[in-house]
Amino acid sequence: MHPWNQPFELDYNRRIFDEELDEFLPEKIFDAHVHLAGPGCIPEEKPFSCGGVPVTNYTYENLACDLAMAFPGRETAALCFGFPDPAYDTVASNRYVGNGADFRRFFPLRLLDPLRDTAESVSADLDRFGFLGLKPYPDYARPGDIPNAEIPEMLPDWAMELAHERQLLVVLHIPRPSRLEDPLNRRHIGELCSRWPRAKIILAHAGRAYYLRGIIGLLEELRHLPNLYFDVAMMQHWEVLAYLFREIATDQLLFGSDIPIGLAQGKAVEINHQYSYVTPRPWSIALCDDRGRMRFTSFLNEELRAIRQASEAARLSRSAIAALFHDNARALVDGVPSRKFNLNPVSKT
Ligand SMILES: [Zn+2]
Repeated sequence: MHPWNQPFELDYNRRIFDEELDEFLPEKIFDAHVHLAGPGCIPEEKPFSCGGVPVTNYTYENLACDLAMAFPGRETAALCFGFPDPAYDTVASNRYVGNGADFRRFFPLRLLDPLRDTAESVSADLDRFGFLGLKPYPDYARPGDIPNAEIPEMLPDWAMELAHERQLLVVLHIPRPSRLEDPLNRRHIGELCSRWPRAKIILAHAGRAYYLRGIIGLLEELRHLPNLYFDVAMMQHWEVLAYLFREIATDQLLFGSDIPIGLAQGKAVEINHQYSYVTPRPWSIALCDDRGRMRFTSFLNEELRAIRQASEAARLSRSAIAALFHDNARALVDGVPSRKFNLNPVSKT
């Protein structure tokens, strides 16, 4: 059992939810950023660290249980993909995510490894499993020099041709140390959107903009691209979110949690124009509260708190908040002409 399912964390997280989030959150939540791993996808000896919690399995059953726990009383749905790491079994991961999706509540994306996949192999999987889109990652694109991977290496033309033809979603975790500050990244995002207008590009973590210098003044070239979307997974800095909400049209904003990472305890923090996380458990990319000075809640609760504060600052209406948390993602999923949608009994009659 994961620590977030045990009373010490569960009861406390629930209290925060009841006191601070319940009245703010709409009835329906569509989480556009969830990672899953079926049995055998992550090697036992190389667990994925969710904020210091080692995970080798995170199944659809875990997700259903945890969504009910994290969003009490809400109707929930999710866009799901594997853990993108070349050291894991990507083929098994795609098979698990594809096979388990029900296309009513849980919708699958396919991890894309441009060095091992081909147009034929991806096409065959799109037909077989009905994936609604692709999840590339810098680690697949330039394994020997991950920090300097470029977007066209992550998404070669043959993959974008498929995405364009089939009107797929592409969840893009942008590469390179300077993120949106890097003009090459901004140019590549613009080119991607305009060359392949039928593809829908979703910038994960709004371009990994966890701190103010990662976003202020950087959205000008991006804000008018009609097929570009921004997910807010793991963003916990309310001023960053408020800036995003003011600059970007509401119908291009998507809620995401980065579950299961979002369920671990901790908080993302900005310090001196940089960001890190503070966590109660040691995590390689975080500062650790090893003296136990703080009582933490989940990253997800921190994200929801920040979204609430930013929505108030940016004066989002109730309908804009419902769009951010559900309607926009639902419309994106419904807009992909996947074969699997035709399998439901209504369309057979
Ligand atoms: Zn993620």
